[in-house]
Amino acid sequence: MSWFSVFGRRRSVATKSNAPLLLSNALTGRKEIFTPNKAGIATLYSCGPTVYSKAQIGNLRAYIFSDTISRLLTQAGYRVRRVINITDVGHLVSDADEGEDKMQVGSKREGLSAEEIASKYTKVFIDDLSALNVDTNDVRFPKATEYIQEQIVLIQLLEQKGYTYKTSDGIYFDTSKFPGYGALDSHGAAHTREAAVADIGRRITANKEKHLPADFALWRFSPPGPARAQEWQSPWGRGFPGWHVECSAMARALLGQPVDIHTGGIDHIPVHHTNEIAQSEAAYGTPLARFWMHQAFLTINGEKVSKSLGNDIYLSDIIERGFHPLSLRYFFLQAHYSTSMSFTWDALKASDEALRRLWKLARDTRALSSERRTPSDASRRIMALLRDDLSTPQALALLWEVLRDDELTPAQQWDAVTVADEVFGLRLSNPPAAAAPQPLPEDIEEMVQERDQARNNRDFARADQLRIHMENRGYRVDDGPSGTVVTLERG
Ligand code: AMP
Ligand code: ZN
Repeated sequence: MSWFSVFGRRRSVATKSNAPLLLSNALTGRKEIFTPNKAGIATLYSCGPTVYSKAQIGNLRAYIFSDTISRLLTQAGYRVRRVINITDVGHLVSDADEGEDKMQVGSKREGLSAEEIASKYTKVFIDDLSALNVDTNDVRFPKATEYIQEQIVLIQLLEQKGYTYKTSDGIYFDTSKFPGYGALDSHGAAHTREAAVADIGRRITANKEKHLPADFALWRFSPPGPARAQEWQSPWGRGFPGWHVECSAMARALLGQPVDIHTGGIDHIPVHHTNEIAQSEAAYGTPLARFWMHQAFLTINGEKVSKSLGNDIYLSDIIERGFHPLSLRYFFLQAHYSTSMSFTWDALKASDEALRRLWKLARDTRALSSERRTPSDASRRIMALLRDDLSTPQALALLWEVLRDDELTPAQQWDAVTVADEVFGLRLSNPPAAAAPQPLPEDIEEMVQERDQARNNRDFARADQLRIHMENRGYRVDDGPSGTVVTLERG
């Protein structure tokens, strides 16, 4: 499939809106009117996952966020060219260029090669996105390992222009040579560029050979001895790229520089995106991206959801508890992308119920309107909210109001549903059939059988243990006349 047939297949059929498309730009700290670099085409780059394990639901917030931007751009009439990179190189992924090689962690854990781990979890990731109604045919997912040459070229250019120095373990970017370093992080609370750079210095203390704490690895040398599982030949010997380099190289190679919009989580502002900007602009003399947009964190009990904190939840857990995967999308749309959100199973349950009610209303409206659409002020107001930096909570609330408003005709309501859903992506225009009861997961089925066996053997301690296991997984356990009966409690 060629480049251009991959991109921009989705077409908007929406009511036209004259409201300007405003997006918050972290680079300037302001909401700005979006215009693309090239007329009619909008390019969107989102920092993708390291595919050494499944993406947790906090990660998924990042891709629902970028999908919502993409849908909004499509509705505004742009052909969207969109990339989510797949990090399949075992970087030392920490702000300090230290830490574990995550691909090696995955390999050891599962006894598979780095390539096998990468391909397994890339598939899970793309399946998760599809379940969340991201049209993955519209997205390009390049692998970092297929762009090593482009990364080497970028580092060579920086070397030729005098932005690098060598230490015993690699080639580093000299941040003192890039005058705008840290500008992306200078618009937060009482921040200046100097304060942002000093913050990085306070957090990153390892590696005494670096000239400044904020300097970062462009290329790391393989340690002497046996070959690493993932390493490449380069002008600097065997080694592997630093983790910021791949995004700069792939964004340029696949979308051109500058990209219109570059997205990621707020955690990427002070280091990853700051470093992407420095190396791309130093090498090529033009900005890497025109708009930088970031989603805030998903938290649980006040802490960021993260695999390393052990509070990770996956889309598969949500589906296993009987919730529709799109209930997670609905849940995220209830908050503005720039505010942090607290996840609870009760909140997800409320989202799942609200979404099912909305599907029912949408189905009824479709039937009553016979799918005729009459544009109205209601549709235009929903679009204006979405065009105002993706005000999804207000737009969602307005859609509910519109569907309950007796003064509107079904055709006006159907138009509003269709318009809103082009951006929400909740399948309101084509709701799934009422969900059939889910079969029990295999391991729960096995626990039920083992518990019945234990009770027959009067091993009540084991039976109790199994009941607790199932309850912890969200099931209610009762003793029926013919044995254990489990029901999903949903949260
Ligand atoms: P990573 O694989 O850690 O680089 O994460 C991939 C994307 O998920 C990045 O945009 C992160 O900022 C984002 N991310 C990770 N954890 C969370 C979270 N708890 N809430 C929101 N975004 C997150
Ligand atoms: Zn990136």
